[in-house]
Amino acid sequence: MSSLFFSTLREDPVEAEVPSHILLLRGGYIRRCAPGIYSFLPLGWRVHAKIEAIVREEMDLIAQEIHLPALLPREPYELSNRWTEYGDEIFRLKDRKGNDMLLGPTHEEIFTLLVKDVCSSYRQFPLSLYQIQWKYRDEARPRAGVLRGREFLMKDSYSFDLDDEGLAASYAAHRAAYMRIFDRLGLDYVAVHAHSGAMGGSASEEFLCPSEVGEDRFVTCPKCGYASNLEAAEVPGSTTGAPMVEVPPAQVVDTPGAGTIDSVVACLETHHPRGDRPWRAGDTLKNLALMVRSPSGDETPLIVGIPGDRELDQRRLEAHLYPATFRPMSDEDFSAHPELVKGYIGPRAAGIRYLLDAMVQPGSSWVTGANQPDRHVVGLVVGRDFEPDGSVLAADVREGDPCPRCRGELRMQRGIELGHIFALGRKFAAALGLAVLDQEGKPVTVTMGSYGIGISRIVAVLAEKNHDDAGLVWPRRVAPADLHVLVAGRSDGATSEAAQRLAAECSARGLTVLLDDRPGLSAGERFGDADLLGMPTIVVCGRGVARGLVETKDRATGERSEIALDEAAGRLESLVSQRR
Ligand code: ATP
Ligand code: MG
Repeated sequence: MSSLFFSTLREDPVEAEVPSHILLLRGGYIRRCAPGIYSFLPLGWRVHAKIEAIVREEMDLIAQEIHLPALLPREPYELSNRWTEYGDEIFRLKDRKGNDMLLGPTHEEIFTLLVKDVCSSYRQFPLSLYQIQWKYRDEARPRAGVLRGREFLMKDSYSFDLDDEGLAASYAAHRAAYMRIFDRLGLDYVAVHAHSGAMGGSASEEFLCPSEVGEDRFVTCPKCGYASNLEAAEVPGSTTGAPMVEVPPAQVVDTPGAGTIDSVVACLETHHPRGDRPWRAGDTLKNLALMVRSPSGDETPLIVGIPGDRELDQRRLEAHLYPATFRPMSDEDFSAHPELVKGYIGPRAAGIRYLLDAMVQPGSSWVTGANQPDRHVVGLVVGRDFEPDGSVLAADVREGDPCPRCRGELRMQRGIELGHIFALGRKFAAALGLAVLDQEGKPVTVTMGSYGIGISRIVAVLAEKNHDDAGLVWPRRVAPADLHVLVAGRSDGATSEAAQRLAAECSARGLTVLLDDRPGLSAGERFGDADLLGMPTIVVCGRGVARGLVETKDRATGERSEIALDEAAGRLESLVSQRR
């Protein structure tokens, strides 16, 4: 440690809020270069390398490793339309001749073209390729250090098959490999059904590590095992449709000054009571007027209908509309669309595109705006009185909402996305012309899968899941060193000599040792740093050395034991190899 390139920080750095980020900075594992852009110091880089090695070992069993450039030409991304669709997230640059270039955010296009270049016959399939490569995304909100960076290391793989069964098999092989990788890393995970938005395609699952600091929210059903990212969860909500025949024709009623859900409910209660029960916010359909902006910059109005007792869930609607973005209509937008009566908007107002939340069942009856000032409609039935232009997931989902599969009660959790597997289908192969000759000599378009794991993110996830108040607590498999050897007490020559010798013996047995040989530190400072840095076993050479003893401390359990100095190297070797 006297020569190790690192320094610890005593105080929590102001730039960090999340525990893993704070501890990785404090322990000298990483340093910030720019927002979302980090340097790894030796300790951090070792953890990184160990994660990478586990990923590589498992991937080598199912795919071939190759390496593509990170600096890429524009054209392939033009063909897939992602040059435009990716919008502000792409780092774009020009070469000296003025050609547009980009730093790869993900590599579907380039892999597809490479396979097209190299393969021409069905005999070369099935094929799975992977790389471990830096990715560049100008994230809107880089966060928590390497958890969400703008430069990050990803293992990305791509499968190429000639038919759907082949793709299903490649997908299953990746799924199994991912489970082995996360198991070996000692990470909890839930495989959730995911939104396939950006990529199109059919099956898609994310592996989420449950964590309070995660940005993803997901629901699980303890009864049937259903698990879905909230963005993709088609939760039926509390609203079930009344049979159409029993609902009288829709009726327009005066609701003067009732431009909000609460005031509509109050007004109906006074002037048009139901008889069976009081009116509720959930009886109303709330129509939200939005402006949707496509990646090319065009803006079009959109109305989204959600149950009146629910709020709009930004993230769910964002995922649905991606790559377009949205904002609420401003007063100016309302002036530009005089057919929209603010506060009294109904479905299908004057030809504006209307999407209905999937919670709203066909055949259900609603109170909603009449598209006239101061008036609402009562008894408007979906499918009888109006048809939406499509369905959308926009209303907020709540703990306890019914499971879409079994109607059990959903639980809601937060998680960090570790990896993502996608059955892409033929979208990229078709766009980029990847077809090969089959047995009869006829061209067939290849079907693809795309699979990613965030390696640099996992450094942060492991730190997040393995720490206590005193610092990091690395699992053995990814710890930067097996042992942390330190001298406690006033270190006379003999004690530090014993520590040096023990460290050398352990190294000779193939263990990695972090030896605290820094001069002029108190025992307290050394213990503090050992806890902060988080090697799994701490070996203390102290007063016991005179009696031929050293003490070991398990960083995770705090368990201490004394062992004989002359047997220590052997004992430590077997301890490390048993638990690795
Ligand atoms: P997110 O929803 O977190 O932005 P994504 O859907 O954009 O993720 P993919 O494009 O599927 O992610 O990327 C594959 C993997 O790369 C993710 O599962 C994640 O582990 C990792 N990853 C994605 N974005 C980042 C980032 N900005 N920093 C670090 N790792 C990332
Ligand atoms: Mg992303």
